[in-house]
Amino acid sequence: MVSRGTTQQSSAPYNRRIVLDIIRRQGTASRKEIVDLVSLSPQTVANITNDLETIGLIRAKRASGPKSRGQPPIALELNPNAGHSIGISLEPGRVSAALVNLVGEIHSRCEVELDTHDQRRTLSAMLGLIDDLIRPASSGRLWGVGIALPGPLIETDISFVGPTALEGWKDLSIFDALRDETRLQVFYSVDSVAGALGETLFGVAKLLDSFFYLHLGVGLGGTLVINRSAYRGANGNATEIGHIPVVPGGKACYCGNAGCLERYLSLHSLAEALGVADAADRASIIAEKLARNEDPVLLAWSAQAAERLRDAVCTIENMLDPPTIVIGGSAPKVLVERLVARAQPLHHSVRGGVRSTLERILLSERQEDSSILGAAVLPIYDLLSPRLEVLQQDRRAEADVADLLGQRPVSRAGRL
Ligand SMILES: [Zn+2]
Repeated sequence: MVSRGTTQQSSAPYNRRIVLDIIRRQGTASRKEIVDLVSLSPQTVANITNDLETIGLIRAKRASGPKSRGQPPIALELNPNAGHSIGISLEPGRVSAALVNLVGEIHSRCEVELDTHDQRRTLSAMLGLIDDLIRPASSGRLWGVGIALPGPLIETDISFVGPTALEGWKDLSIFDALRDETRLQVFYSVDSVAGALGETLFGVAKLLDSFFYLHLGVGLGGTLVINRSAYRGANGNATEIGHIPVVPGGKACYCGNAGCLERYLSLHSLAEALGVADAADRASIIAEKLARNEDPVLLAWSAQAAERLRDAVCTIENMLDPPTIVIGGSAPKVLVERLVARAQPLHHSVRGGVRSTLERILLSERQEDSSILGAAVLPIYDLLSPRLEVLQQDRRAEADVADLLGQRPVSRAGRL
């Protein structure tokens, strides 16, 4: 689905986003192609593309190959050099960060392992990583900092509980402190929501309006994307799939229930099976075992995890009937590939047998980077994706990019 432009006077920023969105989704687009796709006049489209080119968000693509006769239409594309965004993935025991440009390319990345129970040390680790990332690339626009972390974030019985969450945290004031220290706009979100938005902007879901995103990392999360917005539920905690009990009388879960899905299908569950007690050792030991692929414990865990994945796919499909399920997260790509292969054939469901050009499961192309990329998307998602809500946003007379695109300044750390 392509969003249509609107002729209302107050909708100029919305129209600009629609034009940006078409160029991003198509890779390149001529003015005529844009006019054909939206309900805007050729003059309006010309004005908008001129504005976007002037502020450097788009650029004319250099023609390649032999020159053809006649004047070819100018192909417009997003300008990769139109600034960067910093994505930070916060997981128990590890903080990773990357500098990402406007087309989703990772410029540089770094990470540190530490005890994330301690919020002050976590803040200082984030500040250190941000400094490492922006010092060499000091010139150019910085759109802000996005942080992805395990949910649920709104206070519930199961927030900040257990080794797959940021255990012991009481609130998220750390992000206000980060904003004050860096003087950058700071956005944060549940990791599965960030990952899903990342796939929407730059990943395998670029051309999809709706899908289900399964986030396989230290824990297991999920997000339902409908019309390119994450469905949040009544309290902002929808589709916390990892804590759905699936094995009667199964393993005790830190949430207080037993047999929850993420007790069988998560990196924490694998580390536990392998006897890795320290979160700082988790990634290296799992990588080493995966490379050899002969550890009987790993093989037994994989067989059981694939069974749980097969059941989960059936439940998601029968409940929500998404066109596809995208799997991303910080889990190593080779692990996810093996689990998905082993989960075949999938169970029968409302999705099975439906003729579709889409596979029932798609793997993120950025698998191990999908958390960090999702985080980096948070500061620029509003910029690049027109959503109807922006029509209700109030705008201020500020002669900068934010005003041109109808972005509201964020006075405090904002949750996307
Ligand atoms: Zn649980």
